[in-house]
Amino acid sequence: MAFDCDLFVIGAGSGGVRAARMASQYGAKVIVAEEYRVGGTCVIRGCVPKKLFVYASRFSEEFEDAAGFGWTVPEATFNWQTLIANKDAEIDRLNGIYIRNLENSGAEIVQDRAEVVDANTVRLVQSGRTVSAKYILIATGGTPVVPAIPGREHAITSNEAFHLDRLPDHITVVGGGYIAVEFAGIFNGLGVKTTLLYRGEQILRGFDDDLRWGLAAEIVKKGIDLRVGTNVDAIEKAGDQVRLTLTDGSTLETGAVMYATGRRPNTEGLGLEGAGVELARNGAVAVDEYSRSSVENIYAVGDVTDRVALTPVAIREGAAFSETVFNNNKMKVDHGCIATAVFSQPELGTVGLTEAEAREAHARIDIYKSDFRPMKHTLSGSDERMRMKIIVDAETDRVVGCHIMGADAGEMAQVLGIAIKMGATKADFDATVAVHPTAAEELVTMREKWLPPEAEAAE
Ligand code: FAD
Ligand code: NDP
Repeated sequence: MAFDCDLFVIGAGSGGVRAARMASQYGAKVIVAEEYRVGGTCVIRGCVPKKLFVYASRFSEEFEDAAGFGWTVPEATFNWQTLIANKDAEIDRLNGIYIRNLENSGAEIVQDRAEVVDANTVRLVQSGRTVSAKYILIATGGTPVVPAIPGREHAITSNEAFHLDRLPDHITVVGGGYIAVEFAGIFNGLGVKTTLLYRGEQILRGFDDDLRWGLAAEIVKKGIDLRVGTNVDAIEKAGDQVRLTLTDGSTLETGAVMYATGRRPNTEGLGLEGAGVELARNGAVAVDEYSRSSVENIYAVGDVTDRVALTPVAIREGAAFSETVFNNNKMKVDHGCIATAVFSQPELGTVGLTEAEAREAHARIDIYKSDFRPMKHTLSGSDERMRMKIIVDAETDRVVGCHIMGADAGEMAQVLGIAIKMGATKADFDATVAVHPTAAEELVTMREKWLPPEAEAAE
């Protein structure tokens, strides 16, 4: 049977673009539909603009730190509109590069929303055009979720945070995951009074406890009003402010409220159930290890599958899909031991198991910990701490987890990821000569096992 194309990709984000380019380079006729902007969440309203905001927000502290090194910095002022304009110009540049790369690969880009009609047919919503495809790839990513509470329409999400006309005097961020913690740091660094409300015991559930508690202490020192065990029951408008009714019964007036309470897979109205594609309860496309859905020729990659919602993972999944389907080279993505960073202030970098996970997975573990004042802060006057933690499977000596809080933790996690993925042992770490003076040298010089206080007392 002849189809209009070999591959129809829905969504030109991290996963879809990689899959489309590779399939096209392998000789497939590829069409990609994008309803918003080519580049997807990461480039347009995620990782990239977020990191630019993080850089912007760090300067306030840098100016303060400079005094101890002899600098007199005149009173610094910040212009939000300049940052937004420069950020937008950079995003436009990247958007152009993504479009060019896709076109140069031979793929056709269609600027429209696409919906699945059946296993081999896609309909373009605005144009009404119908396209037949041998394979369909769902790469539609995710969307922020705001819980159904009264007044939720007054809340913004990360999507709007990238386009605020002006900075509020006070912002309240709700949530305790990556986005909430990163944006609380951004706003605080830019001089906005910042409250962070998290419903649970401590922010960043799922990260190692030493980093969670360590970071919470640091952000409070930097002035963020962190309230754990607190959620919002209702939001109402109060003049140019919003009034939050909190779960403890108190109210909080704030210039803006930003929800960062998770993201759901973009499958609503996509026509997948009608085509026989099985979805998980949260709407994610259920896929096997080759990213194939319950329908033989429909695949899905990236956030829409709710596996690991990170850009490099979506890219890997997109590449593995094209290798498997269009290059006759069956390829799975290994979702284990993925290094990740939270661009909080201070930053977190982590790879492998947390202490709690390691205790579950291994009969005996050894732990090495370091908590110190980074050299820079001996003169800057800042009391920011740095933390490092290595978790070792005591039976094999393999390092199974490494967790860092402090400057450049994300950069360190990337490099540590190689060693840990390769199966490096603690002895390998110890055999590595330090780079001095760096903070990272702690990673190869920690010799003393950490013992819980009760165990230490018993020794
Ligand atoms: P996306 O990049 O979301 O792309 C999906 C595309 O599909 C979108 O462009 C959308 O418009 C389009 N689309 C949806 N439905 C349709 C349809 N029916 N028809 C046509 N087009 C459609 N990850 C990191 O690794 N590091 C970070 O620092 C990081 N920071 C982040 C910060 C924020 C604020 C957010 C929100 C996310 C961040 N992420 C980060 C996560 C990262 O952005 C995602 O994991 C990644 O973009 C997922 O890629 P994807 O291809 O699955 O989907
Ligand atoms: P996360 O899933 O990481 O965090 C969601 C947070 O919202 C959790 O703290 C959760 O609490 C809380 N929450 C959920 N529902 C409610 C509710 N009804 N009321 C109050 N709080 C609630 O999602 P994010 O939106 O922060 O980020 C989405 C994903 O994007 C991340 O998981 C990550 O994969 C990716 N990302 C990666 C970044 C990076 O690599 N640096 C940066 C930004 C995003 P609880 O813990 O109690 O469930």
